[in-house]
Amino acid sequence: MLPDWFINLAYLIAAILFIVGIKGLTHPRTAVRGNRLGALGMLIAVVAAMLDRQVLSYEWIIAGIIVGGAIGAIMATRVQMTDMPQMVALLNGFGGISSSLVAGAALLTAVALDGANVALQFTISGAASGLVGAVTFWGSLVAFGKLQGLIGDIRFRGALPLNATLLTIALAFGVWLAIDPTANWAYWGLIGAASLLGLSLVFPIGGADMPVVISLLNSYSGVAAAAAGFVLSNNALIITGSLVGASGLILTSIMCKAMNRSLPNVLFGIGAPVDEGAASDDEVYAGKVKSAHADELAMMMETARSVVIVPGYGMAVSQAQHAVRDLVHELESRGVEVSFAIHPVAGRMPGHMNVLLAEADIPYDQMKEMDEINPLFEQTDVAIVIGANDVVNPMARTNPSSPIAGMPILNVDKARSVIVIKRSLSAGFAGIPNPLFAAENTLMLFADAKKGALDIMNALKEG
Ligand code: NDP
Repeated sequence: MLPDWFINLAYLIAAILFIVGIKGLTHPRTAVRGNRLGALGMLIAVVAAMLDRQVLSYEWIIAGIIVGGAIGAIMATRVQMTDMPQMVALLNGFGGISSSLVAGAALLTAVALDGANVALQFTISGAASGLVGAVTFWGSLVAFGKLQGLIGDIRFRGALPLNATLLTIALAFGVWLAIDPTANWAYWGLIGAASLLGLSLVFPIGGADMPVVISLLNSYSGVAAAAAGFVLSNNALIITGSLVGASGLILTSIMCKAMNRSLPNVLFGIGAPVDEGAASDDEVYAGKVKSAHADELAMMMETARSVVIVPGYGMAVSQAQHAVRDLVHELESRGVEVSFAIHPVAGRMPGHMNVLLAEADIPYDQMKEMDEINPLFEQTDVAIVIGANDVVNPMARTNPSSPIAGMPILNVDKARSVIVIKRSLSAGFAGIPNPLFAAENTLMLFADAKKGALDIMNALKEG
């Protein structure tokens, strides 16, 4: 066995790599390096943990690494970018169940060795890891099922008292375990109650709020891992779990703010406010929407000096990022200054647009965040909205009873001219009409995002 100072030094290095890695993830330019540093930290932590323990046989560990690694690699390469939230939900769930199983196994082993003399810290952290891990696992499976369209919203009366009862039962099993660590059944009772709690917590939450829930479950999986770290007396696991727990909570809060939802409303399945006096599509659009062909739009763009592109969920659906890049290159070859305006919740997951645009080799400094780009729209000649809807809906500013009232949006309507590429006047995620499409300075190009971008580019080339 290696000396403690050596193992702890390795854990310290791993922790520093995790923190520097997360810092790297905060900017697209440094994200890939950040990811690699985090992975290196994890490798160091895993190797140190294996050297630290007196592992009698590595066969099972190696088999697990090979099988798990292969499944992970296949999932990562096969999953569509639009299905990424489901994938993250599953991974959170796996994290949660690992913590429960590891903490449970460590607890059973310790009890077999020491009987009732097992330290209190051990049983309490084991119970905490089991409880949070089981909630995370089952809650994440439900979240996966909802996003995959396998499960609808299952609302039932008395969800709140049921959850409170299940939590009380799970805690009671935990207390029992702390009093009598030899009561193995109490651990399994706790896991059973926590599993039901995970299901009943997430069943009633609307599919619309699922990404926020996934981010919260991500935070829970970190808490479960940190608690398992106390059971195993493993500093690396405590640090990693705490980092995941804290960053998941921060992301949850950012998403709630950007979607104008409060966390209690999300957790208690309270839907976004419904605008009783909401204007119908007809009232907003009738006789006001102007559509144009790609060649007319190309002519309009010939005189433009500055263009801002606003991508949204439709760009992801259509996989239009490469076509958009080609359009940008064509515009730039004509001396037009082009930038991208990225809304924090554009698409269906945080960073969705950044990932797609980076895949198409759009330089990071061309992607501007909302606060940076909003003051510039007034000086923008043409804003091209590609498959975005809610994130450019001025109703968020003007209609206090709208479901998206107060949600910060990209002020595209302030640009001199606006081009919107989407297939129809269909609503976006929030299900409401968008007055931007009927604005005086807006022209609609009704087309698939990829085809629309390519048509404008070809028209520019021919023109
Ligand atoms: P929206 O969901 O508001 O609108 C997307 C638009 O894309 C639709 O109106 C649709 O119109 C259009 N579209 C779909 N397919 C295509 C296609 N092939 N070609 C062209 N257009 C297409 O998207 P936004 O990005 O503006 O907003 C994101 C929404 O998702 C927000 O309400 C946000 O709160 C929510 N959300 C975001 C999350 C995140 O983390 N990013 C998480 C959960 C929710 P049409 O059918 O007419 O083409």
